[in-house]
Amino acid sequence: MKQAVPIHPGQRTHLAREIDRIGYMLVSRWERPLAAHLLSLVMRLEDLVCSVGLGDIAVETRALASLLQQWLQQQAVPSEQELYGLLRHHLGVVSQLGLMERQTDPGRDALAAPDNDNARLYLWLPVGIDAGPLQRQLACFGFEVTLLSQAAKLARALQEATPVAVVAFSEFADNDPIIQLAPAVSSTCPLVLTSPRRDFPVRLAATRLGACGLLDWPLQANQLVDLLRFGDISERRDPLRVLIVEDMASLAGLYTQVLAAHGVEATSETNPEKVPERIEQLSPDLILMDMYMPQCNGIELAKVIRQQRLLDGIPIVFLSVEKRQVVQLDALTLGIDGFLTKPVAPEELVVTVINRARRYRKLRSYIANDSLTGLLNHSHLHGQMDSGILRARRDSLPLSLAMLDLDYFKRINDTYGHQAGDQVLLNLARFLKERLRRTDLVGRYGGEEFAIVLGGMPIMRAHQIMDSLRQDFSQLEQQAENRSFRQTFSVGISSLQTAEDSISLVQQADEMLYRAKEEGRNRVESRGG
Ligand code: GH3
Ligand code: MG
Ligand code: MG
Ligand code: MG
Repeated sequence: MKQAVPIHPGQRTHLAREIDRIGYMLVSRWERPLAAHLLSLVMRLEDLVCSVGLGDIAVETRALASLLQQWLQQQAVPSEQELYGLLRHHLGVVSQLGLMERQTDPGRDALAAPDNDNARLYLWLPVGIDAGPLQRQLACFGFEVTLLSQAAKLARALQEATPVAVVAFSEFADNDPIIQLAPAVSSTCPLVLTSPRRDFPVRLAATRLGACGLLDWPLQANQLVDLLRFGDISERRDPLRVLIVEDMASLAGLYTQVLAAHGVEATSETNPEKVPERIEQLSPDLILMDMYMPQCNGIELAKVIRQQRLLDGIPIVFLSVEKRQVVQLDALTLGIDGFLTKPVAPEELVVTVINRARRYRKLRSYIANDSLTGLLNHSHLHGQMDSGILRARRDSLPLSLAMLDLDYFKRINDTYGHQAGDQVLLNLARFLKERLRRTDLVGRYGGEEFAIVLGGMPIMRAHQIMDSLRQDFSQLEQQAENRSFRQTFSVGISSLQTAEDSISLVQQADEMLYRAKEEGRNRVESRGG
């Protein structure tokens, strides 16, 4: 077997940049000597990558080399269309691949993609601690909890399936097996530690072990749920979404690979006309946009996107071979959030995209969400409900609306205080977010009234789901200082089958809610159900 000669990645990236630079000079003006020089560079890159067995790029460099050879033999000057179409395409792919450190195996990306439905938790508790109550509370939030207390069992469980997190009790004694296992665990999945100790050495130790959180023991289910819903862990379950607008499908594919390897859910669109629709479907956290496309340029498309009020704040990062400062500044004054020059170094792509997408996701949550519960506020719920209705009508899909109201909630405030009441509202918000699909809209409609829009859901199914939520929520222990109590709610459901617009949809759900209250509360009523 031929031994691969190790090459410095710097050599490859240098060649890739040079190919890109010379190549684009040729795209704007064909000159034989320059073309010959480009060919020699491409052939050097080809030698380099063949020797280390980088398959994809070898194929692409060969294609570019034979294109150049063919044109050089022809004597004739290639047409503008050939230069702009063919040459630009090949250059884009070769230079981009040349900058990528490792060839990503597309088969592995599918595995790296986080599974949203995964609600598995591994709970590590020493023998003798009664995990029952905690386990039951977490189950109400929709988590499937596996209890473990032996190192070998934990290791086996981690091999079988990757959970949302491992939650482990520790007093940070030196001989505690979980302390020894922690580094291995935290490199596999998020590790949350819970301890009766809160002193500085313990916090430092937790950080050093790679834990992403240290929670008080006894562990409160709602605190754990909060931790799992925000920050880095939440991105594993609800990955950042990026829409890539790039007319060259091959390049879009490469960007998608790089981002997917970092847990970002990237979707590409080659047709600018379809972009507004895609934004609606995907609700991306960022748009990565090519500057030059045949139908319209990136600036124009950005303006079209900005025209739509609702989509106002989505960050747009341009990708372009345009290296002139002036054009970049122009883009920035237009409210463009970043500029990446093609071919883009993968690390730069990842850092630029992830940081901006994260910031926007956070910002959006402040603006659109209710400050107590973090759910959509009244006006944003209405805005999104209207788009949901339009979409359902267009695609002839069902849609149900559930209005939910806490039962005898005034009494809770009167008995346990307003703060305990707020805590119940928060628990309900966490509970709904955890148990419903990511695509369902959950909003705080008013004081202790919530609205849930279930897209694609027929009313019968919506009824079943809301009824199981009702049962489970009523099992949750609500805490008020040192007393605990339970809280129920009633639900009214309507659907697009009988309602023309959002006004009648809300009205019909309200009527059903009223009926549920009349009939004794802690129940679900649906129109025709
Ligand atoms: P019903 O079963 O008929 O719905 O009875 P109820 O007591 O829940 O209904 P009512 O409309 O009489 O009272 C609603 C209560 O909700 C009154 C108000 O104090 C409380 N509430 C509304 N918003 C908040 C809030 O943000 N925090 C707290 N703690 N309580 C709230
Ligand atoms: Mg383009
Ligand atoms: Mg009420
Ligand atoms: Mg009410």
